[in-house]
Amino acid sequence: MIDLHTHSAISDGTDAPGALINKALANGITVLALTDHDTIAGWDEALSYLRPNLDLVLGSEISCQTLDGISVHMLGLLFDPLDQQLQQTLAQTRENRYGRMERIISRLNQAGFEISMSEVLAQLSDGATLGRPHLADALIEKGIVKNREEAFSELLHNHSKYYVSHYSPTPEETIRQIKAAGGVAVIAHPFASLRGRTISSETFTTLVAAGLDGIEVDHRDHTQEQRELLRAIAMDFDLVSTGSSDYHGNGKLNLLGEFTTSIPQWEKLESRARERRVVRV
Ligand code: AMP
Ligand code: ZN
Ligand code: FE
Ligand code: FE
Repeated sequence: MIDLHTHSAISDGTDAPGALINKALANGITVLALTDHDTIAGWDEALSYLRPNLDLVLGSEISCQTLDGISVHMLGLLFDPLDQQLQQTLAQTRENRYGRMERIISRLNQAGFEISMSEVLAQLSDGATLGRPHLADALIEKGIVKNREEAFSELLHNHSKYYVSHYSPTPEETIRQIKAAGGVAVIAHPFASLRGRTISSETFTTLVAAGLDGIEVDHRDHTQEQRELLRAIAMDFDLVSTGSSDYHGNGKLNLLGEFTTSIPQWEKLESRARERRVVRV
């Protein structure tokens, strides 16, 4: 079973990277990608827990925004961790998430919700990327909401009056940087409309021109029709079609390996990377 999109507590998942590796092995996953939001800080721990029968793909889910403000998530896989340009972009996004969180908190405070930055930061693992799920966890701890789901549906969703975006590169620029670092770029859940506005089918032309390698077709946030449309787009542009869980530990219902990528599609994707960077012990 090949699962190319998972999160650890180094972003908004709830399993430490090592625990994620152990769960992947216990669940019969054979190829796992660690794709924390805007960071590679979990790679070393994940590597140190690796054992035979699991191939590890190191990556990141990179936050992007189109020029007209649509949020896009780009999975960068198999890139060189020492590439300065890409790391600088990720660092800028992570840094910007702090000021953005302060602004969301101040909007909540003005509406009478008592929550502070230090309470949110208390929910964050060491070295992790800050995100709205940590704010959700702080609101749960204070008894303001029951769970992350309620926090997002009531207060934190993208159309909420409390919502503030953070700096993000465009999807095209992100693809170019992933490719320049020798990796492959797969657009994550492109039609997942629960989260906000999504790109149109036409946008794929510019993404492909920038070097897009694949589309995450099979994902729980896509309907059957959206999957068929995305699979057709992938075929048209000779892109790889992936399926993945977007596992977040207890942070979401998504189960490890609930959607998977076929072996031929994975081999095609891997062959598009500059070097063979899959790790196996
Ligand atoms: P941010 O990166 O700070 O904008 O927060 C977005 C993250 O929140 C996404 O990566 C999702 O994994 C997570 N998220 C979005 N909606 C929900 C939800 N309803 N329940 C739990 N997590 C969510
Ligand atoms: Zn997430
Ligand atoms: Fe995502
Ligand atoms: Fe994700």
